[in-house]
Amino acid sequence: MTETTPQCRTVIDSIPAYKPGKPPAAKEGLESYKISSNENPYPPLPSVVKAVNAAAEDFHRYPDYGGTELSAAIAAKIGVAAENVALGPGSVGVLGQIIQSTCNSGDEVIFAWRSFEAYPILVQAAGATAVQVPLTSEHRHDLDAMAAAVTERTKVIMVCTPNNPTGTTVTAEELDGFIAKIPGHILIVIDEAYLEFDRADDTPDAIAVFKKHHNVAVLRTFSKAYGLAGLRVGYGVAHQPIAEGLRKTMVPFSVTNLAQKAGLASLEAQPELLERVESLVAERTRVYDALTDQGWKIPATQANFVWLDLGDKAMDFAALCGQNALAVRPFPGEGVRCSIGETEANDRLIEVCAEFRASL
Ligand SMILES: *Cc1c(COP(=O)(O)O)cnc(C)c1O
Repeated sequence: MTETTPQCRTVIDSIPAYKPGKPPAAKEGLESYKISSNENPYPPLPSVVKAVNAAAEDFHRYPDYGGTELSAAIAAKIGVAAENVALGPGSVGVLGQIIQSTCNSGDEVIFAWRSFEAYPILVQAAGATAVQVPLTSEHRHDLDAMAAAVTERTKVIMVCTPNNPTGTTVTAEELDGFIAKIPGHILIVIDEAYLEFDRADDTPDAIAVFKKHHNVAVLRTFSKAYGLAGLRVGYGVAHQPIAEGLRKTMVPFSVTNLAQKAGLASLEAQPELLERVESLVAERTRVYDALTDQGWKIPATQANFVWLDLGDKAMDFAALCGQNALAVRPFPGEGVRCSIGETEANDRLIEVCAEFRASL
């Protein structure tokens, strides 16, 4: 008898292990900053911490399965029916639910590349096939090429706007033209993880687009602008039967009561949280302008990060950041994504960028 051990599906072996944003290296006399994961640098609001602390008294109980109260509050806020809102453990969780609900083995999911690292992982883990369509030379979605990539096996198309990691957006006009070309049985998912940071005046109103088209869904999260990354809560806005499929495929009880209560408290504190977002947008402008003055060519970013298109110098730049106690997110051979963080972190990023340019 041959000796055997349980094996993962071969596709699982080919999935790169998730690389979490590294904690920054310590350096004598320098405070370390992590600007590698697009997190909100502000600590949670006292009102949100209070709601979470109160919820902590109850965690011997399972949470409300469907997150009824939070779903209803989100629905009221964005102006859709509660049955169109489905929660998940982060919008990454919801995206996993979308792919599980819609794709059989070998079905295709189209997305721009480079875009969010989680896309190929979730698609392949579900047994579907990732179809990656290169960004344009301006680091934007190439929607014509994405429409041309549709085949009989296409089930889902991701549109990430603002795009992670380049910060570029899709315009309302471009999106309308794109949707008109896509067969109605294909689900178009607009991933708006960074919506609150977007100040472009030609950005689509994704909820209005959702209402107009039965094959459009929207993904949003409390992780970035609302600062709840560690609690895991996001949502999808979808028509039936997809919305119901998302509820059926959620890992049971994966949105904890702590996360649900934090989401509710965050909606209540929205004006205060959006003031923080406004400060981060101002910081983004400051960083963008400073780097542009140094001579960097950076895509116009509408998210809480900047993309440095460094090609084969990406790792050198990340190493210099590390020497300066700044953790950034390099993509070897492509570029480096740097989140907008604390003011001092942004100051240091500007200095490191100047030093790196001087060394070229
Ligand atoms: C961060 C991010 C998400 C959501 O993350 P969650 O913490 O799972 O809600 C979704 N899409 C993109 C493009 C992101 O960058």
